[in-house]
Amino acid sequence: MFSYRHAFHAGSHADILKHLVLIHLVDYLQEKPGALTIVDTHAGAGIYSLVDGFATVSKEADQGIDRLATFAKNNPVSSGIANYLDCIRVENAEDDITVYPGSPFILAHLLRTQDRLKLFELHPKEIDILRHNIGELRQSKQIDIYAEDSFARLKGLMPPPSRRGLVLIDPSYEDKQDYRYLETAMEEALHRFATGCYAIWYPCLSRRESAALPDHMKKIAAAHKRSWLHVELRVENAPKERRLQASGMFVINPPWTLEKQLAESLPILVKALGQDSGAGFVLKSFEA
Ligand code: SAM
Repeated sequence: MFSYRHAFHAGSHADILKHLVLIHLVDYLQEKPGALTIVDTHAGAGIYSLVDGFATVSKEADQGIDRLATFAKNNPVSSGIANYLDCIRVENAEDDITVYPGSPFILAHLLRTQDRLKLFELHPKEIDILRHNIGELRQSKQIDIYAEDSFARLKGLMPPPSRRGLVLIDPSYEDKQDYRYLETAMEEALHRFATGCYAIWYPCLSRRESAALPDHMKKIAAAHKRSWLHVELRVENAPKERRLQASGMFVINPPWTLEKQLAESLPILVKALGQDSGAGFVLKSFEA
């Protein structure tokens, strides 16, 4: 426990998929003026340097955000990708992307005055960095930070007072039990707030629990008569390598616009980020 630091993975292909989906969800939910409560159950440090520290060890951004930004300079991209790149550029004064905003910073910048953001982080070092980073933002008064186990606390926050809510669940899955905790947390959250929008990120690994996650989420969504969308992005097929080659998002109560946006964006992401002929995507949905 606590060996995971998101800085090693900042700006990777997995962050791109996750944040592309996240931004679309917020944009859609903000089409109505009612206050929105956003819960980021696994926040990380908030924002990451790509030019020093952990990110320079793994260099995942080289094959992720750097590759996508270069591709977008020379090729047309979807409005969803253009919007995502704009959100990343907000933190970068220069043309080069030297800083990558994590979900807390992306969400903070999207907040309207009526919205609230709740961030959870358990890592003793990450929580201090997160508090410091968020403290610098003009939106900090709209943001609550909890050094608590979000799997245990999520149900207590549901439903949000405004009854309009988005929950991003982005565990590190460092602890194999996270798969089980996720299922329990989703059961409890849907029981209390069935109409919320829930976006779950997961790594595509050979591990049994990871392969079974989408089916388990489908069963939970079906039990609560909820619609869902399932997306995966694979950038290479090199099973012997230790790096992550694919990841997915499972969205419960997705906006009707998400599938169309992803159908436009995914072939472009495969072209921009694909490293061999194993690159591809999955996009499925079900309307309850
Ligand atoms: N969501 C972030 C982003 O997109 O920029 C990345 C988060 S990272 C994948 C997962 C984080 O969750 C780690 O910093 C880890 O310390 C934290 N964490 C792990 N278990 C947790 C729990 N039960 N409750 C809250 N945070 C937890």
